Amino acid sequence: MMLTNRSKQVVQKELTLAEQLYFPAILKGMLITLSHIFRKTPTVRYPEQKREIAPVYRGQHVLKRDEAGAERCTACGLCAVACPAEAITMEAGERKKGEEGLYREEKYAAVYEINMLRCIFCGLCEEACPKEAIFLTDRIVPSSFTRGEEIFGKDKLVEPADQRVDVSKRQTKAVLDFKQDKRHYHNQTHSDRLLSR
Ligand code: SF4
Ligand code: SF4
Repeated sequence: MMLTNRSKQVVQKELTLAEQLYFPAILKGMLITLSHIFRKTPTVRYPEQKREIAPVYRGQHVLKRDEAGAERCTACGLCAVACPAEAITMEAGERKKGEEGLYREEKYAAVYEINMLRCIFCGLCEEACPKEAIFLTDRIVPSSFTRGEEIFGKDKLVEPADQRVDVSKRQTKAVLDFKQDKRHYHNQTHSDRLLSR
């Protein structure tokens, strides 16, 4: 039984004289090739030439520092839980006395890694983060020759204190309002949940 009427029966028809010569077909092919030579090429010669991208393009992540330069990430793990590609791993460390300037809260990410080969740049880690610690940026992840180089650790992810990465374009009012909305479970702190019981 046929489910659609799109199928065509193959017939082995006799070739005409022109088809047997192949010359018209070759000529037609060459004309198509020639017509492409004079068209504007869509190829972008990256990296010398860069294509314009959206201000909210989702590229290489950044782990942000606060105004005083302390790392914002508290290794809560919400980004890793939200990540559909299981690309994020981390190990928590406990802040020692005298490290207040390095880490914002008592707990911090001693190890934080993103496997860029697994990442699908969905941005869910950014949405899940309650500490405004992780953002995707408009930076394109550089290619490499080995898989190991695509595991980005804190050395590549944490922004240098003297070279901050601007993520203000991503923090639109709608985004900030969404992050404050306590109706969403991931925006609730532990005390919010205790109060709502
Ligand atoms: S952008 Fe998406 S896939 Fe990539 S690390 Fe974040 S949550 Fe995972
Ligand atoms: S959700 Fe934010 S604070 Fe928590 S581990 Fe991820 S980046 Fe750090």
